[in-house]
Formats: sequence, structure tokens, C-alpha cells
Amino acid sequence: MHVVITGANRGIGRALAQGYAQAGEDVTGTARSGDDGPRLDVTDPESCAAFARGLGDRAVDLLVCNAGVYPDKGQNLDTGYPPEMWAEAFATNVTGVFLTVQALLPHLARATAPKIAIISSQMASDSRAPGGSYIYRASKAAALNLGRNLAVDLGPRGIAVGIYHPGWVRTDMGGDAADIGAAEAAKGLMSEFTALSLASTGAFRTWDGQDHPF
Ligand code: NDP
Repeated sequence: MHVVITGANRGIGRALAQGYAQAGEDVTGTARSGDDGPRLDVTDPESCAAFARGLGDRAVDLLVCNAGVYPDKGQNLDTGYPPEMWAEAFATNVTGVFLTVQALLPHLARATAPKIAIISSQMASDSRAPGGSYIYRASKAAALNLGRNLAVDLGPRGIAVGIYHPGWVRTDMGGDAADIGAAEAAKGLMSEFTALSLASTGAFRTWDGQDHPF
């Protein structure tokens, strides 16, 4: 199986790449900069196209759209949340997912049972809305919506799409106080990705095997 993971140079993406490599799978883990893997900035259509070209005619069995940002932690409702911050978050967390999927559709089409996993968040959920972090919540809600609609359109092409909450994970984004380590999150997510099929396409699932409320 050939697995492509965006944002695999640290955090959950790196743990997923390590988990799949240990399982003997063929992993392409991308990085925005440096030498940690093929370069991919998901906000940049040229970068997405170049990355796709670099894969040649290889099939992609599983695409994990993991790259994400959370720029509005601790922003103040009365004075914060500047428009540039909204633009940055949506460019990565929403447009970035779409551009990556779009660029890799030909490679997914070459696989026998292709799958797309979109790493959203419990903060995407309308039924869990405690306030604050408006930008991140809205962007992850949009990523969830994107995944649900892609599932409908890609089903007839044989491509299954799942949307996931990875847990509250100890990474640069999740912080030291988070509930679980990245390896534990990755293990749970990998099991969920294995279970994803055309029968369950469009599901919003947690790392520990639950349906997440929308
Ligand atoms: P990290 O901040 O640790 O890592 C984020 C990764 O995304 C990095 O590899 C980063 O690359 C990459 N990235 C950011 N912007 C871009 C871009 N424009 N193009 C390509 N790569 C990019 O985050 P986590 O590992 O914690 O999070 C991974 C995913 O899980 C995210 O989508 C996040 O929203 C989601 N999530 C995380 C939770 C948590 O508790 N940690 C909870 C719920 C959801 P670089 O090093 O270049 O910045």
C-alpha cells in the first residue's frame, strides 16, 4: 500500500508516517520545507501540482490530509481574530485539503480501493460549540463539510472519504497538557483508516473508534 501523508515532518503526521513504515507500508510523507520528505505546501497549487508530478504514475492507496494550523489560540474576541489570520487558516485547513485531493485524484484513481482521510477535529462539531477559537473551529467545520461532500462525489469513482478527530494529542499544536501521545493517536487513526470503505464513506470518526456527532 502506498500512503501519502501531508505535514509528516512533525506531530501526528510524523507519527502516522512512522507507524505505516513500521507496518511495512510504502510511505510518502511530505514537508513544507527542509529535507524531511518531498516538498509540499498545501496552500500553493503549483506546489501541489509539482508534488503530484513527482509521484509519476504511481498509485496512491491512502491520502491522509493531515497538514493544519491553529493560529487563533488565545485570541481576544473584542480585539483579535484579524482577517489575515482567517485567510491563513482557511488556506491551509480547507483550501489546502481540496488542492491536495484535486492534485492527487489521478493517482488515487490508479489504486484498487483508494481512500482519503481528512484530519479535522472535534472542534469542527456544531453540537460541541463551547465558544472561542472561531477561526480554527470554522476552518475545521469547513474541512468536515468538504469531506462529506467529496464522499458523495468520489463514491461513484470508488474512492472512500473519512473525516477524523485524532484525539487531543501532545504535539506543538496540542501542547504538553494534551491527553495522548502522537504514537497512540496514530495507532488509533490507522485502525480507523483500515476500516474505512465505500460502505462507511462520509463518516466522522474519532481516533478511538467512535462516531463523532456532527
Ligand atoms: P503540528 O502543529 O504539530 O504539525 C502540523 C503539521 O502541518 C506540520 O508538519 C506543518 O509543517 C504542517 N503544515 C502546516 N501548514 C502547512 C502547509 N501550508 N503545507 C504543508 N504542511 C503544512 O500539528 P498536529 O500534528 O498536532 O496536527 C495535525 C493535524 O491534526 C492538524 O490538521 C490539526 O488541526 C489536527 N488536530 C490536532 C489535534 C491535537 O490535539 N494536536 C486535535 C485535533 C486536530 P511545518 O513544520 O512546515 O509547519
